[in-house]
Amino acid sequence: MSKKIPFNVPYTTGDEIKLIKQVIRSHHIGGSGEYTRRCQTYLSNKYGFKKALLTTSCTDALEMSALLTNIQPGDEVIVPSYTFVSSVNPVIMRGAKIVFADSETNTPNIDATKLESLITKKTKAIIVVHYAGVACDMDPILALAQKYHLSIIEDAAHSTDSYYKNKALGTLGDLGTFSFHETKNITCGEGGLLVINKDKYIDRAEIIWEKGTNRASFLRGEINKYSWVDVGSSFLPSEILAAYLWSQIQNLTKIQKMRKKIWNIYYDGLADLHKNGDIRLPHLPEYATNNAHLFYFVCENLKTRNNLIQYFRTKNIAIAFHYQALHISPFYKKKYKGERLENAERYSDRLLRLPLYPTLSAQEQTRIILELHKYFKGK
Ligand SMILES: *Cc1c(COP(=O)(O)O)cnc(C)c1O
Repeated sequence: MSKKIPFNVPYTTGDEIKLIKQVIRSHHIGGSGEYTRRCQTYLSNKYGFKKALLTTSCTDALEMSALLTNIQPGDEVIVPSYTFVSSVNPVIMRGAKIVFADSETNTPNIDATKLESLITKKTKAIIVVHYAGVACDMDPILALAQKYHLSIIEDAAHSTDSYYKNKALGTLGDLGTFSFHETKNITCGEGGLLVINKDKYIDRAEIIWEKGTNRASFLRGEINKYSWVDVGSSFLPSEILAAYLWSQIQNLTKIQKMRKKIWNIYYDGLADLHKNGDIRLPHLPEYATNNAHLFYFVCENLKTRNNLIQYFRTKNIAIAFHYQALHISPFYKKKYKGERLENAERYSDRLLRLPLYPTLSAQEQTRIILELHKYFKGK
């Protein structure tokens, strides 16, 4: 049997331990220290974030977004069905109603052309998810937000180092959220970032981040004691994690170069299968960049998708499907009253992802591409 090819291997820079040792020696192992500031400042300068706060996860950044935009009982929030549970849990946790939207035919992203019919007097916000780091079509979505006075939250968990019409993802909505989970392009195990693009949210974001206190302001010397001033929670990560993330951030350019190279080899190596109609390769709209967060293709049907997973298991190669549409999930299907979301269901059934990480070797990649060809030849 050939050596196992895992689905994901988190990249390590080799500097993580050195930086963590510095943090331990500094005795500042709690949050909101030197490495947190470095990460926030670097990413803000590079991508044009007005304000950025490191969080313990993208999930937490999304929960902060729901608090900041004041989502509450009686409100409706539009969210794509084809996404991770963290995009929707904060809506339910605030007691508001989810309104699920379908994906585009060409990409798993929310279909901007179908959004206006979902907007009611109760709609408070739209949460968009840039799937695979490929931007949603933001201009029409932002126009709707303006017309109906809605907040836009970008779940940019996949989207570090990606752009929409030359604007970094995470900067287009009122708020943007990133993930540094082990499966994402840069990681600290579990981690995230909240990006705040509206001045009116900045002060309150810091307070919510610091458990409902104005401690951030106190640490900057702006006030002489800190107090309980609002609701909040413990959303800030330890300096140990911030140091780990800092070592990754310093290698971001290198990591992105390696990921894009692998992505392009898949794209070129599978072009003939796309041409034959065996699979459909990802569509990249002209307004979007590709940050090589993940490599996916779409199968003809569920049966082919399942057979492929089975076939690759026998070849000792891990490949994976992805989200299962949330409107028909065990938690939600009885509550769902809307119409069928055909594209979301189609991506749930037919989308497959291939291994993609900087240490995936050229030989391993050749083996994966070859096995895909063998499968379709023998089918
Ligand atoms: C990974 C992911 C999240 C959650 O990120 P965490 O940092 O693990 O909380 C949220 N939304 C999407 C689209 C994701 O892919």
